[in-house]
Amino acid sequence: MSTTIAENIATVQAHIAEACARAQRDPSQITLVAVSKKKPAQDILEAIAAGVQHFGENRVEESNEKIPQVQATTGVPITWHMVGHIQSRKSKEVPGLFDKVHSVDSVKLAHRLSSAVQSSDAAQNLAPLDVFIQINISGEERKSGFDAFNWQAQDAVKAQLWQDFRTITQLPGLNVLGLMTMAPIVDDMETTRPVFRALATLREALAEDFEHPLPELSMGMTDDYPVAIEEGATVVRIGRAIFGERQP
Ligand SMILES: *Cc1c(COP(=O)(O)O)cnc(C)c1O
Repeated sequence: MSTTIAENIATVQAHIAEACARAQRDPSQITLVAVSKKKPAQDILEAIAAGVQHFGENRVEESNEKIPQVQATTGVPITWHMVGHIQSRKSKEVPGLFDKVHSVDSVKLAHRLSSAVQSSDAAQNLAPLDVFIQINISGEERKSGFDAFNWQAQDAVKAQLWQDFRTITQLPGLNVLGLMTMAPIVDDMETTRPVFRALATLREALAEDFEHPLPELSMGMTDDYPVAIEEGATVVRIGRAIFGERQP
């Protein structure tokens, strides 16, 4: 039997609370981002009615249509999160559409987003854009993000990452909140634990070396968010567990 979006949200929130209890964390420290990519505005409105105020999308074109539709209908203030890879030619549109970007996966993109914020006209008057630096910590090939596989043992990997982090945090118009990663897709979510733990360790090292607070860790999706929370996630990005399977 299929469940409603409101029921799904209640289930996810219960699982978040259970994971927090296991890790002795306060559930109010976790932001639930409902990833509504490929789902209609109506589904987003249902989730808003059930109390969700953070939504994640992964395509600028789709968001250009859906975000205004939702904003025109709801009086609830919504925080919009960009979680997908951003094509260079689309980067200009991002700061006006989204409040937070989880997918800063190259220095080039960071420069483009920084310029987009700064060149926004006075009427828009855009605030600094909150960003997460996307990290490929599992070392999977063809996965987006800065390479951080085995960074503690690989001096060259660490040096490159530290250099890129310094560059990005010095760019005007960007406010680096923390790190984001996607764990490998596996059958047993326990397998993802070392990946999440490694991201938490990396965050601590960067925060300490740069004396740059990095309060946020965006990690955990439908198949693995309980483990991510146990390992320190502050933001979980959940699609299918809330909105059901997506059309391929
Ligand atoms: C699609 C997506 C999610 C949500 O994935 P689910 O498995 O549906 O929970 C989270 N993060 C990113 C970056 C995504 O692209």
